Amino acid sequence: MMAKVLDGAAIAAAIKQEVAEEVRLLAAQGIRPGLAAVLVGHVPASEIYVRSKVQTCAELGFFSELITPPDTVTTEEMLDLVHALNDRDDIDGILIQLPLPKQVDTKALLDSVLPAKDVDGFHPVNAGKLQAGRPALAPCTPAGVIEILKRSNLPISGQHAVVVGRSDIVGKPVAMLLLHENATVTICHSKTRDLGAVTREADILVAAIGRPGFITPEMVKPGATIIDVGINRITTVDDFDRFFAGDAKRQATFAKRGSTIVGDVHPKAFELAGAYTPVPGGVGPLTIAMLMSNTVRAAKMRRGL
Ligand code: NDP
Repeated sequence: MMAKVLDGAAIAAAIKQEVAEEVRLLAAQGIRPGLAAVLVGHVPASEIYVRSKVQTCAELGFFSELITPPDTVTTEEMLDLVHALNDRDDIDGILIQLPLPKQVDTKALLDSVLPAKDVDGFHPVNAGKLQAGRPALAPCTPAGVIEILKRSNLPISGQHAVVVGRSDIVGKPVAMLLLHENATVTICHSKTRDLGAVTREADILVAAIGRPGFITPEMVKPGATIIDVGINRITTVDDFDRFFAGDAKRQATFAKRGSTIVGDVHPKAFELAGAYTPVPGGVGPLTIAMLMSNTVRAAKMRRGL
């Protein structure tokens, strides 16, 4: 049986359309959701992400503001900046693009964002609410994983979901969201013994590891749903051949750009899946869509709507 490809771009487009409709309804009440994006210094990947977030704001009718402190910024200056955004009524969501320069205390900064404006869902108050099953702003990428499963009509309840990775940004919150959807959840990490034996039990396998092609075919139960959160850039011909030998379309991109993106799952492992998210074009597009969805939600919650 051919594995079904889960089209993240199409799902993200549908969510963005729904968000745009909500923005129109709010506009009728004189409300315009606003997002402040803080981008420190010049990290190329961060610049690309933030630019596309700001552009999506414009497409969907949000107000947005891009704030770009220099990479010499201090923790104090960043805290002042966040406090000012917390106080502004035209700002519903505050996004601080990570990573920050090492002199900045990232934790202190994330903790300083008003939980009601924490559209990344990284504040401990929101993490706690998520765990307690209270309405909260959930982290965007994990929320996107759930949207992909639901909108593709893939069952979650009663399924054994195995999450590889336990970061606060992806692994832990995705595990919590799956648990709330009544999956039986196993969380794995670098100290897990016989990882392959555990992942082979997965009906839903979520890979959030940060290692190119780490999940190999022998780690997958045939027919499983595979959600690949990983984004890894590969640049060597050796790596290319290891993952994509014989893939003419990839070869063309690689030849042109000198690099290509591979997930945390080896492409050969996808062939065993019942359904899977490709990289790129799977989970990635959902992250921005869910950021927009969270911002509208924050705008409504803050006004008691
Ligand atoms: P982190 O580095 O914070 O976490 C990686 C996790 O993988 C850790 O829990 C680590 O375990 C685990 N891990 C590492 N090596 C192994 C191993 N050999 N066996 C088992 N587990 C292992 O990464 P993130 O969670 O932030 O990101 C994960 C991936 O997702 C990355 O590729 C990242 O680029 C991508 N990503 C994609 C997004 C998107 O929009 N699609 C958004 C965010 C991230 P331990 O805790 O024991 O160290």
